[in-house]
Amino acid sequence: MIVNKSVFLCELEIINWQRKAPPAQSIDRSIAWDNLEKVVSQCTACPLHETRTQTVFGVGNKEASLMIVGEAPGFYEDQQGEPFVGRAGQLLNAMLQAISLNRKDVYIANILKCRPPQNRDPAPTEVATCTSFLQQQIALVKPNLLLALGRVSANYLLQSKSSLESLRQKMHDFQGTPLIVTYHPAYLLRNPIDKKKAYLDLQLLQLTLKNCNRSRGIEN
Ligand code: SF4
Repeated sequence: MIVNKSVFLCELEIINWQRKAPPAQSIDRSIAWDNLEKVVSQCTACPLHETRTQTVFGVGNKEASLMIVGEAPGFYEDQQGEPFVGRAGQLLNAMLQAISLNRKDVYIANILKCRPPQNRDPAPTEVATCTSFLQQQIALVKPNLLLALGRVSANYLLQSKSSLESLRQKMHDFQGTPLIVTYHPAYLLRNPIDKKKAYLDLQLLQLTLKNCNRSRGIEN
């Protein structure tokens, strides 16, 4: 007996599955992401647009449980348009692997979307101007847990002026989302002696992420 191909595929629910429209909410989210990325790519709101090669928006899983927030693009990020590439990016990947996470499992973004010349610290006015984009990214990802990398990121997210050392190994809160602080990988490249302390922070991160996911019914 010859089976009609489309009937056969329908039986397997392949055609129905392919034609099933995505839920309206996911379309809205997708449009919101596209709009935000477009606005960022054309932004000239602070002087950093004059010296950038391109904006560096963010990368990774847009529905991640863990969102990582760094400081600003460096030379390689500015060239490639992706956060945390180059040696600091490789170290971040290794840090994630150390707690059984992969770069593609998390969402990664920076406080600033354009590179400050000579990788200087972001100026307060640049942070104030740019961070509405990060706020929107966090609202779209809705992570279960935030990881702030480095003093600039931690101080912005926590609206603090504390030293990084005093913020480590504690649970913080960013607008209702738990937040953990650790060293920026670029700092660890310059100060490898602190890698052991960073590993302690990563262990706290792993445990907290597990608990956050469990409380929201997500398998780890
Ligand atoms: Fe715009 Fe942010 Fe780039 Fe400044 S750093 S130009 S605010 S995207």
